[in-house]
Amino acid sequence: MQHLSSIEQQFVDELKELYGAGEARELYFLLLEDQFGWSRPTYLMRKQELIDHYIADRLLKALSRLKEAEPIQYILGYAWFSGMKLKVDRSVLIPRPETEELVQLIIEQQLQAHNGNLRIIDIGTGSGCIAISLKSAFPHASVHALDISNDALHIAKQNANRHSLSIEWIQADMLDWDIIFQTDQLFDVVVSNPPYITEQERGDMHPNVLIHEPHLALFVEGSAPLLFYEHIAAFAWKHLRAGGNLYFEINRQYGADVCDLLQKKGFSNVQLRQDMQGADRIVQAQKRDS
Ligand code: GLN
Repeated sequence: MQHLSSIEQQFVDELKELYGAGEARELYFLLLEDQFGWSRPTYLMRKQELIDHYIADRLLKALSRLKEAEPIQYILGYAWFSGMKLKVDRSVLIPRPETEELVQLIIEQQLQAHNGNLRIIDIGTGSGCIAISLKSAFPHASVHALDISNDALHIAKQNANRHSLSIEWIQADMLDWDIIFQTDQLFDVVVSNPPYITEQERGDMHPNVLIHEPHLALFVEGSAPLLFYEHIAAFAWKHLRAGGNLYFEINRQYGADVCDLLQKKGFSNVQLRQDMQGADRIVQAQKRDS
């Protein structure tokens, strides 16, 4: 039998190199709260108690996954996004705070413009975080979401079901949209957070991301860093109604290039925006009224 305080110490000792002691302790508290419903005061009252083997086993199993740099969200099985709890596993990217900023921008702008009666498509939906939070903000919208990965779509569908939201799912390669997406109906909003990390950036990546998150959702070939943006811009040009908006999350290095691409294609009101960290992160554009 072990004391909880000795397991806490083990977390700090074994994770401090990877995360720092403070963060290691936070991860420990998160697990206690999630798996056993223990708040911090409960823990403080009970930390000198001897604990059952099964509790120690569960905590130490989680510790060994954390030591392998596995993100806590995959261990818990969920992540929070725009106030919603979303299921995640290794087939989907863990939703990021900068993507919440993208969603907030769309909600603010579209609420003013349309009162929520919208047709929206999210290209490369992953966990479904963008599509689901937009559907939740605009219950009358018709929201479509596309991904190449069946495993990702499986998770995204579960997330939508859990929040009782209905979305049109499309399994397709965003590079092949022309073949799969024949429709006469136009969209008000096209949004995408496509893969945008280049091979050259591998060296700067945290092992959390590099080892555990799906490369399919992250990487684009270094020789064609704008590949997905080109294809989605072409899709948007054809399938946005006049006055409709395109929103991209981007790699901070390619803000000017993505803007340039959209201007050349003929889009109007092309704007580059920064995230809370001050990095170029969002590009938006409008298909002009014809
Ligand atoms: N923002 C993610 C990261 O830095 C990447 C997301 C993406 O490639 N679309 O890990």
